[in-house]
Amino acid sequence: MPITPPRHPIVIIGGGLAGLSAAAKLQDLGIPHLILERFNRPGGRFNSRAGDGWLADHGTQFIRRSDETLGALIRRVGMETRRVSIQGPIHQLIGNNQVIVPQGGGYDSDRLCLLDGFGSLTTALAGTLNIQYNRPVGAVRWDNDTKAFWWEKEGQVFWFEDEDGQPIRDHTTQQPILASGVILATTPTVARRIAEKSPSIGGLLPLLEQVKHSPCFTGMYRIPRADSNFYALKGDSDSVLSWVAFEELKAPGRIADDESLLIAQAGARFSDELLKLSDAHALSALYVAVRRLLFDLPEMPLTQTCKRWNMAHISSPPLGEPAGGRWPVNPPQAPFALAGDYVLGNRAEDAARSGQQAAKLIAAQLPRRRSFLGLEIQS
Ligand SMILES: Cc1cc2nc3c(=O)[nH]c(=O)nc-3n(C[C@H](O)[C@H](O)[C@H](O)COP(=O)(O)OP(=O)(O)OC[C@H]3O[C@@H](n4cnc5c(N)ncnc54)[C@H](O)[C@@H]3O)c2cc1C
Repeated sequence: MPITPPRHPIVIIGGGLAGLSAAAKLQDLGIPHLILERFNRPGGRFNSRAGDGWLADHGTQFIRRSDETLGALIRRVGMETRRVSIQGPIHQLIGNNQVIVPQGGGYDSDRLCLLDGFGSLTTALAGTLNIQYNRPVGAVRWDNDTKAFWWEKEGQVFWFEDEDGQPIRDHTTQQPILASGVILATTPTVARRIAEKSPSIGGLLPLLEQVKHSPCFTGMYRIPRADSNFYALKGDSDSVLSWVAFEELKAPGRIADDESLLIAQAGARFSDELLKLSDAHALSALYVAVRRLLFDLPEMPLTQTCKRWNMAHISSPPLGEPAGGRWPVNPPQAPFALAGDYVLGNRAEDAARSGQQAAKLIAAQLPRRRSFLGLEIQS
């Protein structure tokens, strides 16, 4: 049965991979959407950073060939030819000192990246969707819409407050943004903060409190060209470093021929310590840790910058699908769904899948059109 197009768009809070993927699915289903994103760019943790003559993925490091949902999003924006295998072996770091070279050199053709960085996908996707930037949502409000006609069976209207409790207004019309349904696609920490201030979705709190995550301090260091025989070092859960990679080996053209760009991510416990320091101190401490393993690196990098991921990785089991197909919100018939990398799994692909699941849950909650004696009615 066809869906009755809702009177207001479905608003998606958060323009990361989960939110963008949800919007793309709604678009495919012919359901209007609007993404409200906190920052002035899309992508969240699936993103890249460009500097003077360099490019690095500072969040997600690689995706897998088997990631079908991501594959479909890449094809959707015509970027198939920009998706490439990462060349070069990955060595394993066990504990903090030893570098173990796996048999066969560790080359793994299943790991893929995008030539122009992961941010190129989220930017391209956002370009096909309806998104407003610099729109941090602080609370979701819900009203019975007295303007709805009884036969529309659509008495719920959501509206939004910013972090100062002011209604969020449309960029162009300056009218408060109204929604016929909501997909909450922020990190779980922000989702919890929003739920605390929003009685209608307060029922989510016990679920959101189950989600555990770990931080990651990421340093990016430009150095004179290093002669590395591997692309990346991968640490285990006890390592000081969780990942050190030479970005110029990941995809050609990311940095000038005579330079290397090291991306270094601290392990969870070390990240906790680094996040307490200033950028300069944390970058130095992380570089010292990298040099303990890679002796040939110069004493000082040419330039350095960092990214603080207070909430990088989800370390608890995923929430899974909602019981009975509905997340616990009040009123229970209000179209609402959760998306993010804590819902179905903790990788980028899982975030994208959760967005698609959320869009389908919303579609299932919208009224359907039926005809009776030649008249169209809704059910
Ligand atoms: C350092 C690091 C390395 C990783 N490596 C890999 C990897 O190699 N492979 C892999 O598959 N995955 C990896 N991941 C995980 C992957 O990046 C995430 O699973 C995925 O990007 C999460 O997407 P998301 O949309 O759920 O969340 P996010 O990307 O966090 O998106 C949430 C969005 O909500 C927005 N937002 C927040 N608050 C508000 C608000 N109040 N109002 C409106 N908008 C708001 C944010 O700005 C953001 O755009 C890595 C993550 C990190 C941090």
